[in-house]
Amino acid sequence: MKSALILGLIAWLAGVVLLAETTSQDANPIRASASAAIREPVLGRMQFTGGPREEGLAGRSGSAPIMDRKLPDAVHQTPGLEFIDTSFENASPLWYESATDGTVRLFLLYDHERSSPNRAAGHIHFLIHAAPGSKLTLEFLNLNNVWNGKPGSVARELKTLVISEDGRNWKPMPTQALLGNRVQLQVEMPGPRLFVARIEPYRLSDLDRLLAKLRPHRLVRITPIGHTVQGRPLEIIRLGHSRAPYRVFVRARAHPWESGGNWVAEGLIQRLLKGDADARRFLDCYCVYILPMANKDGVVRGLTRFNLQGKDLNRDWDQPADPLLAPENAALESWLEQMIRMGKAPHLAIELHNDGGGQLHLSRPPIPKLNRHIERIAVLEKLLRRHTWFTEGTTPPSFHNSGTLGDGWLERYGIDAVVHELNCNWIAGLNDYPSARHWMSYGEKMATVIFEYFNTVQP
Ligand SMILES: [Zn+2]
Repeated sequence: MKSALILGLIAWLAGVVLLAETTSQDANPIRASASAAIREPVLGRMQFTGGPREEGLAGRSGSAPIMDRKLPDAVHQTPGLEFIDTSFENASPLWYESATDGTVRLFLLYDHERSSPNRAAGHIHFLIHAAPGSKLTLEFLNLNNVWNGKPGSVARELKTLVISEDGRNWKPMPTQALLGNRVQLQVEMPGPRLFVARIEPYRLSDLDRLLAKLRPHRLVRITPIGHTVQGRPLEIIRLGHSRAPYRVFVRARAHPWESGGNWVAEGLIQRLLKGDADARRFLDCYCVYILPMANKDGVVRGLTRFNLQGKDLNRDWDQPADPLLAPENAALESWLEQMIRMGKAPHLAIELHNDGGGQLHLSRPPIPKLNRHIERIAVLEKLLRRHTWFTEGTTPPSFHNSGTLGDGWLERYGIDAVVHELNCNWIAGLNDYPSARHWMSYGEKMATVIFEYFNTVQP
């Protein structure tokens, strides 16, 4: 009895000591971090350094060993460089470090597609803070995109970038491609700040300024059609008279890095509102409906391709849009179906994009009378070549990119719809680099192209 009591007392004391030990470990940050520091190398060895144990783990999971996560032996600071600022509207998310030779390595962040291996990086827009006169070598990494389920580096499409001291007046700069899907740009700081961008940026604030200017115009009606994932309002700008015999629809900025479409749309708007005899003639023939910035959230946050729920807004047009995951497309689809119910379906739809090719992407979904559609778009191509600097031509019959707005609107609604890419590196027809000015002049001339298109094909 007495010995049982003593044993019970010993057990109780042991419990109190154990409890005190556990509590002090949790409560004492120094001890807690010390024990973490002891655990970490073990975890590091298992995950990062290879060896038989890791191979065993890798074999079970089916993934290759991860070998590139070692801490660097030393860190470096590029002379003259203070900071790379990505805090502003439309700046591209990235991280950076300096190499031993002072090269600034910029790691763009990918945005990802939902339920898909697709990912995209390639939007570039940041502000360098550095000593005036310093010469910097910028090296772009993380260009290993996945497009339509296939790996494909964007390095070979990254032939030029633009730089600007004030973020408004831009100068083109050729880049150098290096082995390993890397791209370099050399810059000399003209002052303490220098913007670098993929192409001349067109921000949401630029669109808001345009909308404010257009709103009072008697030939303009701006109609809200819905909201983006983050609740930003989407609008259709109507130019001209709704009773005009023909209607054309233009969408820009489904992919946020591709600002060229916004400049083209702005040029088209300017031309149609010029108030001269030609503008009156154009608007007696056709009415234009523009969705100027489909992926506003992505533009504000500096994304490359997808919306904030990981949807590609130029895909899945072969089926009804998901109002939760792609509210931007669901809003446009509702607007379109309402137009169709009112007998006001567009006769032509142009979906504006940027890439390294600049072609007109012909839609070829399996529909009856596809040849008639192809003939009409051949007329459009001929008129673009005649009245603008367009020389890039259309995609060959082997090219298919199903689910685009071009394919989907033609297949589901019978609307002549095309994807128009704008070359982001070079304008062959002008023998010059692309710029906002050139793209706006392209948009201005499209007013004539559309006029002659309707007069020729009379759809
Ligand atoms: Zn695009």
